[in-house]
Amino acid sequence: MSNILVINCGSSSIKYALILQDYDYRLYGLAENLGTPNARISGLTYNAQENRQEKFEVELGQADHAQALEVAMKRISHFKFDAIGHRVVHGGTMTQAQVINDQVIQDIKNISNLAPLHNPANLIGIDATMKLYPDLPQVAVFDTAFHQTMPKKAHLYALPRDLYQEHGIRRYGFHGTSHAYVSERASTLAGQKNQGGWVVAHLGNGCSTCAVWNGKSLDTSMGLTPLEGLVMGTRSGDVDPSLHLFLNINLGWDIAKIDQVLNKQSGLLGLSNLSNDMRTLVEAAESGNEDAQIAIDVFVYRLAKSMAAMSCALPKLDGLIFTGGIGENSGFIREKVIRSLPHFGLSLNAENNATRAKEIRIDDDTGPQIWVIPTDEEGRIANETRQIALGENVF
Ligand code: AMP
Repeated sequence: MSNILVINCGSSSIKYALILQDYDYRLYGLAENLGTPNARISGLTYNAQENRQEKFEVELGQADHAQALEVAMKRISHFKFDAIGHRVVHGGTMTQAQVINDQVIQDIKNISNLAPLHNPANLIGIDATMKLYPDLPQVAVFDTAFHQTMPKKAHLYALPRDLYQEHGIRRYGFHGTSHAYVSERASTLAGQKNQGGWVVAHLGNGCSTCAVWNGKSLDTSMGLTPLEGLVMGTRSGDVDPSLHLFLNINLGWDIAKIDQVLNKQSGLLGLSNLSNDMRTLVEAAESGNEDAQIAIDVFVYRLAKSMAAMSCALPKLDGLIFTGGIGENSGFIREKVIRSLPHFGLSLNAENNATRAKEIRIDDDTGPQIWVIPTDEEGRIANETRQIALGENVF
């Protein structure tokens, strides 16, 4: 297998990781606040003289994406890589990763109205690496692609047909790279690679559930945008669609303000009026903070409802999978969710559930399996890049 550079470019940040075939570690970094006076980069580099990895942190002045990338590339220059994989948030109806060429760039631009904050930022990263490495193959790996197997009954909204046919208004789903990775891992560990029915809960700052049958997504909780579905760190998830009208008429809020509140000031943060961080909320609830407790209760109840709903997409339920910062690390939340699904015949192995951030089975083998699988979106992007750009048989 080959070495792959993975890039995840945001509007003012670049996350990168060098996935090395012969090493059990990765070099990675995060450049933040790009285009502002506080631009900086930190991560893990390789010290060739002393043959060891070491942390680094550098102030970048007012560096833009291209300048930050040049600094980042110096920190991994000891190693060669064979291709570059880019995370691209919205791939519209593209069903798999694409080798980047002029047509693919145009396609990503054409669907930027569906992800106006993300796709243009992803294109900045693609442009910068194309200039730095014009001879390397580059691949776009889409967050939406895994969900393109959703049938119409799952991806259509009950809206006038024209809105779907003329304007592409439908459910797309996100976190596809994560759902694909953890469902493949869990099914492999269960001895039935890409077989059976799994309900996945990706619980990070963004949260979504997914129904996976024989390795294919049949439904997911996010929709046209990543706002639909579960309660998240700062996103509301599902609300009554008439809320917009209500807020406009009664509070005089315009559409930009409503969008801002639903995306940035709602979810766990809005409910608790304290934090979007689950750790903070669990601690506060333990010390008697009622708003933190309510935020956790709403989060868990809505999550359990969504997991039950996802099971409707599956002919049979083999197991549940938890991933993302909360899903991987909080046995407390996992236990509460399992308790909220009493009719599923689930039973938890308390000792395994108390183990943190490992690939581990946490049921006691009397009902559907329950797995904790740390996600690895970068590893999955690297593997899709190997397969699509270099023809390596990695899956
Ligand atoms: P992510 O976006 O996947 O990095 O996940 C971020 C979320 O994971 C935040 O809400 C964190 O509070 C949460 N998280 C990380 N570790 C824990 C933990 N031990 N218990 C509860 N939540 C955690």
